[in-house]
Amino acid sequence: MKILDAVYFRNNERSFLSIREITSEIYVKEYEKRLFCATNGCHARLCFVAKSGNKNYLRTWRDSIHSQHCLYSFDKVQGRLGVRKSGTIIGIVSRDQIRKSLIEAYDMENMNEEERWKLVVEKRQHGIIKMKRPKVNKTSEQLTLAIVSDPARLTPDAFLNKGRLYKRDVDTLKEKDNGQTRTVTGRIQSLSYINGSPILRVYKNNVFMNVRFEEAFFANAEQYYDMFKIINRLLKDVDSAILNATGEVRRKDENDEFELLVFDRDGLLLEGMPLTLIVSHYTTEQISF
Ligand SMILES: [Zn+2]
Repeated sequence: MKILDAVYFRNNERSFLSIREITSEIYVKEYEKRLFCATNGCHARLCFVAKSGNKNYLRTWRDSIHSQHCLYSFDKVQGRLGVRKSGTIIGIVSRDQIRKSLIEAYDMENMNEEERWKLVVEKRQHGIIKMKRPKVNKTSEQLTLAIVSDPARLTPDAFLNKGRLYKRDVDTLKEKDNGQTRTVTGRIQSLSYINGSPILRVYKNNVFMNVRFEEAFFANAEQYYDMFKIINRLLKDVDSAILNATGEVRRKDENDEFELLVFDRDGLLLEGMPLTLIVSHYTTEQISF
């Protein structure tokens, strides 16, 4: 629930604040961690959410709890019941998220060791990578968010939940990635077809897996079946071409390998390019590697 006013504490003095008096700059400088619910007797902490067009609001701080009689207490309790009921909520991975993740994964694969290390150090300095994982209390209830790219698994409320899209290399996939949506990076070994559907065999450090493309990938775009053939041309021109793909990771029982099922046409990059771009470049012969 959006909250539009707060109580502000400074040197034990209490004053009221309306959302109109808060800007991002002032919040960071002055109000962060010092704003509380304005309801009498409620001590829930609030934080500021900046939105464009005068639509800023306040919301309840992460684990803060409103007092029972507070108007805003309803929110939190309901949220918890939801968790207890389902345990896992389904979230959606947006196309923008997929595109961004693929480009980052491609850039990462293109770097040498030294560049990669520099990036990690930079990210740590800016607090993007946490040095230590926070300890998780296993006995308390946990909300797990499974993000999906498979349209068949989407629920109407999935669109409300945005999760993190994690990246893995072919050789760093673990059991806990099984059934999860991931951006996977590897090198392409070969292209084959089973029942007319393309399969890309990819590898990294001697670990192999197949990348398959589900029906949703070709929905309303059957020309994509043919477009895959251009990959053979790419493989002749580029030694161990880079593949980045976003989809659902599955463990196959037959050969104990993981495989990746791609549902979204935006979920595939070859040498940093979408399939359509490679096709159009080859068609006009503008490409040079
Ligand atoms: Zn309150």
